Amino acid sequence: MTAPPPIYLDYAATTPCDPRVVDAMVPWLSEHFGNPSSRSHAWGWQAQEAVEHARGQVAALIGADPREIVWTSGATESNNLAIVGAARCRAARGRHVVTVATEHQAVLDPVRALGKQGFEATVLPVQGNGLLDLDRLRDALRPDTVLASVMLVNNEIGVVQDVAAIGRLCRERGILLHVDAAQATGKVGIDWAAWPVDLMSLTAHKSYGPKGIGALVVRREPRVPVEPLLHGGGQERGLRPGTLPTHQIVGMGAAFALAGAEMAVERERIRALRDRLLRGLSAIGGLVVNGDLERRVPHNLNVAFAGVDGEALLTGCTGLALSSGSACASGSAAPSHVLRALGCSDELAHASLRITIGRFTTEAEIDAALLMLRAQAARRREPMTHLE
Ligand SMILES: *Cc1c(COP(=O)(O)O)cnc(C)c1O
Repeated sequence: MTAPPPIYLDYAATTPCDPRVVDAMVPWLSEHFGNPSSRSHAWGWQAQEAVEHARGQVAALIGADPREIVWTSGATESNNLAIVGAARCRAARGRHVVTVATEHQAVLDPVRALGKQGFEATVLPVQGNGLLDLDRLRDALRPDTVLASVMLVNNEIGVVQDVAAIGRLCRERGILLHVDAAQATGKVGIDWAAWPVDLMSLTAHKSYGPKGIGALVVRREPRVPVEPLLHGGGQERGLRPGTLPTHQIVGMGAAFALAGAEMAVERERIRALRDRLLRGLSAIGGLVVNGDLERRVPHNLNVAFAGVDGEALLTGCTGLALSSGSACASGSAAPSHVLRALGCSDELAHASLRITIGRFTTEAEIDAALLMLRAQAARRREPMTHLE
């Protein structure tokens, strides 16, 4: 007998494809395999139509014009294209960029790369609740600032930044704002039409679509010039050349259509599960929740228990698939830079667990997870007792 697979509570790392998404994708692999750029026959026309339909679906979720959607391989590539591509276009105006200490590495690394190209970066701290202090942002903006990058939903602690207010500060000063929204689609409403945001990164695989496909949303009015990072066949108006992966694109479109249709109901269901989880975790005692609990998506709880080593807790819970406060540094033992930015000690960061809930999480799974966590926490806290 093999052990059952662990209960999946790591939806912020990736989500399974929704079976409805898989069904939508399959015909575009071997049946309708044409190259969307083939202009001279039906195979190409049909694929192109599917790509444009999906572009409309992605645009509709956020209220964008389909012509503002540029397909990429995911949020990492979108972030690179937005940050490096837009900053380079504006280098004549200034060479200062601003970002935040709690950003994903896929933002911090391209910002660092700009540093090697003659740019200067300010990495702003956050408040203890994980939110950016707008006064600090205002003070950091300079006449030579050309770009700011602030994420919408944090991948480790789930807090939601006020990107509309941040965008207003930037817009008044002629500074571009890029938003990494990889964790936001299907979790919070996005109002691209109303928000003063110039560039937005999206990905499919955090929202029940396939891995390896994403988009960069590039505002048309006022138009945001972006220099391509790749050079090739001219697809995506030259901004991101390469043969379009029709099946992946169709999958992202289907996933985002479902996200839009089901977000409101799903969010309340997940909030109820989160509240159940939070009540159960509180009963363990010594509970610390990292990041603001109100300005946060209900899909995320990042917690520690006073006097309990989270890494040991996780090792004991072989029946649970979740992340620890040090898992995000690609397997290294370094404490999470996000938790450190909140002011957590290395010890607390190491002791923290990220529990993320999603579309396929059930109440029974939450209860089973609570049983395991409760039993393990009791053991880790009092290593000398063997009463359970
Ligand atoms: C997952 C994630 C990324 C990377 O996205 P990929 O599509 O896997 O490249 C970037 N930013 C955030 C906030 C993420 O959660």
